[in-house]
Amino acid sequence: MNQTKYLLIGGMSPAYASVSIREEDQTGAISIVGQQPAKPYDHPPLSKDFLQNPNMKEDDPECKMPNYYPDNNILLFESTEIDHIDPIAHIATAKSGELFQYEKVLIATGSSPIKPPIPGLDLPGVFMLRTIFDAVKIRNEIQDGKKALCIGTGFIGLEVAASLKQRGMEVVVAGDSLPYGKFENITFSEWMIGQMEKNGVPIHCAERLTKITQTQNGLQAEFESGLKLEANMIVAGLGAKPNLDLPKSLGLEMALGGVKVSSKLETSVIDVYACGDIATFPDPSTGELCRVEHHMNAKWQSQTVGKVMSGHSGEYKKIAYFWSDVFDVHLGYRGNSDGASPAKNFGSMDDGRFVDLWARPNGEIASGLIIWDDYEKIDPISDKLEVLLENKKDIADVEPSDLGL
Ligand SMILES: Cc1cc2nc3c(=O)[nH]c(=O)nc-3n(C[C@H](O)[C@H](O)[C@H](O)COP(=O)(O)OP(=O)(O)OC[C@H]3O[C@@H](n4cnc5c(N)ncnc54)[C@H](O)[C@@H]3O)c2cc1C
Repeated sequence: MNQTKYLLIGGMSPAYASVSIREEDQTGAISIVGQQPAKPYDHPPLSKDFLQNPNMKEDDPECKMPNYYPDNNILLFESTEIDHIDPIAHIATAKSGELFQYEKVLIATGSSPIKPPIPGLDLPGVFMLRTIFDAVKIRNEIQDGKKALCIGTGFIGLEVAASLKQRGMEVVVAGDSLPYGKFENITFSEWMIGQMEKNGVPIHCAERLTKITQTQNGLQAEFESGLKLEANMIVAGLGAKPNLDLPKSLGLEMALGGVKVSSKLETSVIDVYACGDIATFPDPSTGELCRVEHHMNAKWQSQTVGKVMSGHSGEYKKIAYFWSDVFDVHLGYRGNSDGASPAKNFGSMDDGRFVDLWARPNGEIASGLIIWDDYEKIDPISDKLEVLLENKKDIADVEPSDLGL
């Protein structure tokens, strides 16, 4: 039986949580246990730099240098899936039968791509993107001049489309909603269609995939409207769902399709913590419960949970942040626009440099969408926006200079 003080289950979140645990506790045993045959890695490069750059190595997206783990006395268990936790005995069991006795456990099992029962999604040449191994398979298929079809108009579909186009493929996108439809910002989505088309990527929106078949020349995707699109490869980005089998098996309290946690990332069971894509937490900007499937949310929550698990004070207070890069469209999004509506817009869509602010019915600023053609501008504007959101500034008083514009 492995004995450990901190058992951290997952990938990137455990890696970042271990950093803040080590800041507070230099000696307590830490074990990071992950299902994949890989060291913890960040996902954002997989749809961007990794596909765009054939020379990027598979270990480049890793969260930490390989020597970080031995240097900090952290044990890594790769290819180890935990399928049972006894929270009374404080013992976790891996599928292999390996046992881990812990004092505190973090569950950060992340998300998996949604794979609806649509015929053809398993055909050779059809891919989904979640892991580095998926990204390697997609990158190996890239061929200059060949046709790629990206299904889905969320950030994965659009980023992959842009990356494949940048590698010389002929690319088409089709999906059942508008680009970045989750923002419910039709003006921005329509502008985004124009950006994709300007870069030579046609988009078919409101198209629901019904089947994919193999043809003599490659693959054919069919849609409910009767539209048929042919391609040599297809990447389907149909959304993600949180991996909840393990947390559900423990009987943890659930909310909004995730594991309910406090602002300290504690679950309903003592000594069991959760963070990242699976965690439903109190949104600091609204006080309402929310769940966020984005990188900085997982990274910041990991930093907080590491402090809390090592017995120090900490509360998750960050304003949600999502970013995306598609051609020279760099996007940063802060806040939570639930129940809000468009309020103010600075800059110019024609120049590809603008900030779109939404407000709640009481006038408080709720969220901001930043679009800039230079990605280095995103973070400075986002930092200023965060201060406005934290202070719940009245939208009527927000001036461009408040955002450094
Ligand atoms: C291609 C791609 C690009 C992205 N780009 C962006 C971006 O630009 N901006 C942004 O904000 N967000 C982006 N995201 C989202 C972001 O990567 C996720 O929100 C983040 O990775 C969530 O971290 P997590 O630790 O919760 O889960 P994950 O990073 O998904 O890690 C979960 C890990 O747990 C492992 N696991 C699952 N079950 C078990 C088990 N029972 N036992 C052991 N291990 C288990 C999984 O194999 C996985 O390695 C992107 C995601 C993808 C897939």
